[in-house]
Amino acid sequence: MDLYEYQGKQYFARFGIPISPGGVADTVDEAVAQADRAGYPVVVKAQVKVGGRGKAGGIKLAADAAEVRTHAGAILGMDIKGHTVGRLWVEHASDIAREYYASFTLDRAAKLHLCMVSARGGVDIEEVAETDPGAIVRMHVDPVDGLSPDAAARVVADAGLDDEARPQAAELLQALYRCYVEGDCDLAEINPLILTTDGRVHALDAKVTLDDNAAFRHPEWEEFEGTETADPRERLAKERGLNYIGLSGSVGIIANGAGLAMSTLDVVNQVGGSAANFLDVGGGANADVMAAALEVINTDDAVRSIFVNIFGGITRCDEVANGIVEALARVDLRSPIVLRLDGTNAEAGHEILADHQSERLIVEETMLGAARRAVALAGGKA
Ligand code: GDP
Ligand code: MN
Repeated sequence: MDLYEYQGKQYFARFGIPISPGGVADTVDEAVAQADRAGYPVVVKAQVKVGGRGKAGGIKLAADAAEVRTHAGAILGMDIKGHTVGRLWVEHASDIAREYYASFTLDRAAKLHLCMVSARGGVDIEEVAETDPGAIVRMHVDPVDGLSPDAAARVVADAGLDDEARPQAAELLQALYRCYVEGDCDLAEINPLILTTDGRVHALDAKVTLDDNAAFRHPEWEEFEGTETADPRERLAKERGLNYIGLSGSVGIIANGAGLAMSTLDVVNQVGGSAANFLDVGGGANADVMAAALEVINTDDAVRSIFVNIFGGITRCDEVANGIVEALARVDLRSPIVLRLDGTNAEAGHEILADHQSERLIVEETMLGAARRAVALAGGKA
């Protein structure tokens, strides 16, 4: 789960990483109130989960309340790389002397944590990695040993951070490491990490990705969840416990197992169609799961047909058939279903469906045949 900058900064603060005082605002008036509290000058920052907000005009300095009004009004509702700005972070502006970069992430190949530090921060780090790779110092950290004060001091020195910034940067790096490990992050990145004109080192931006597998030991993460996915289809699916990914085509897809779901996507593409989603109902294709899956797909206006592709293994096709019949009674579907049912108890499944077939529920024998039918119903080739 990716966090917004303001959430990342609040997460940082728990681990003692210095940030600028500030607050969130969803309206122009709230932005002014937050600015009054933080103290002028302030910086008004668009909260979207993409980088390069500064370049896109989503980050503006404001000297007084009138300027906050102007900038907050312009940034709220702004589109940044396809993300609409609905929330701002307003913080006391910093006087920047130098901009650095610091991050922790996992190097899976090395089975070690990777610390990266650079004196060239504030710019696109991928670009620095390409044009001036020597400017980024990389250091592996063994999770058993942790990050020692010596190692932290060494990496900030090797990266060429200014002398006066080094002790504070090393200390901050240790706090960032604790945040990354104890806070169960996949990524904890500060770009820019700044040295202020009055000699303080602190985080001016925050990019945090939490490791979803650790959610069970972080009940406090719940506050981040409501804000997580903007796609209403994905939010609904998550509430129902389904593995769902929204796509932009017109054929809704339900399959049991991620492998079959992917093959289904491929075969729909192969016959000239395009998938509206990826939905894996896993092993439990009972009525509740089928109804939930159909309901989620039904909320997608772009869907013209629904291809249900089930291969029974442990899942029994007769149960799936009953599930679909029951689900159809519960959900008022806008699109026809094309069903391919094979594997364990397929015959029994087909018998159950025999009385229920109509132009709304079409059973096809093969995956390819079903894909062709679903694509035709969705309006033919894309
Ligand atoms: P990003 O563009 O999405 O990475 O957003 P950042 O939070 O990193 O901000 C982009 C740039 O805006 C920074 O590199 C700074 O140059 C500038 N900026 C952000 N906050 C301040 C501030 O408090 N004072 C000043 N002078 N510049 C700031
Ligand atoms: Mn940044």
